[in-house]
Amino acid sequence: MEHNERIYVAGHQGMVGSAIVRQLQKAGYEQLIMRTSRELDLRSQKAVDQFFADQKPDYVIVAAAKVGGIGANSTYPAEFIYDNIMIEANLIHAAHQWRVKKLLFLGSSCIYPKFCPQPIKEEYLLSGFLESTNEAYAIAKIAGIKLCQYYKQQYGDNFISVMPTNLYGINDNFDLETSHVLPALIRKFHDAKETGADKVIVWGTGKPRREFLYVDDLAEACCFLMQNYESNHIINIGTGKDLPIRELAEMIREIVGFAGDIVYDATKPDGTPVKLLDVSRINQLGWQAKTPLRAGIEKTYTWYTRSDVCY
Ligand code: GDP
Repeated sequence: MEHNERIYVAGHQGMVGSAIVRQLQKAGYEQLIMRTSRELDLRSQKAVDQFFADQKPDYVIVAAAKVGGIGANSTYPAEFIYDNIMIEANLIHAAHQWRVKKLLFLGSSCIYPKFCPQPIKEEYLLSGFLESTNEAYAIAKIAGIKLCQYYKQQYGDNFISVMPTNLYGINDNFDLETSHVLPALIRKFHDAKETGADKVIVWGTGKPRREFLYVDDLAEACCFLMQNYESNHIINIGTGKDLPIRELAEMIREIVGFAGDIVYDATKPDGTPVKLLDVSRINQLGWQAKTPLRAGIEKTYTWYTRSDVCY
């Protein structure tokens, strides 16, 4: 990728897309193309095709998606499967038609089977049943991976797919109905501290284990892979370390400085019991995550308290 080439970052207002834009700008890329969802509805094939005809991007990064935590995924499965299939099919097909030099598609660690061996290797894709709470999203993301692989196989398109683990960081979603666990807990502990509440409710049993990657590390990995990866195989991006939700909750309580109790609500779903990626493939290429979990949460919390996000 040359500094004067045209790079379209789809989904630049989201947590991932905005981190990728920051990373590209830092690396000196000047011709970034961005559109809000109001300006360009990526679910419309006609609109996407017209946009590619007008803009002719050299490179495309697909960070646009309908995303959400365990609550949103279970409540709105129809939107999660439809919106995501439409967005990725339109973008990947247009990238093929307009001969984009390279496309990077962002998947997710939830595409892997619910009960696969840990840590999860890339080859476990489609080796078992999916976790039911996010099956709709996972099926859509698997379709996106297959689109990239088959366009590459049939036409030689340079399309790669990356599988990030659970992400967090600035511009995350802190809406308690739809967010993932890490921003939800930052908000719950912060609100409890502000209002002087004596306890915070954490969903599930606290036993499931998750891996968390700071979104700026993900953005760095995506730029690294745009330069250094051409394979038809998917590639995991993570830290290689996980922890139980219980420990995460305690760490966030400490960082926020909340003195009250943590109460577990076992009527809420736990989701998949463990989700830890095997990151040896990307590590062998020469990339490793930099930001320790505590430091990443501290940065995110500082951003949250200073930003004007309100729900
Ligand atoms: P998942 O990784 O797809 O399961 O998505 P989440 O990040 O939404 O949830 C991860 C785990 O954190 C699950 O076991 C949830 O039950 C648990 N959890 C605990 N408290 C919360 C909360 O307030 N919000 C969310 N979204 N999850 C929570």
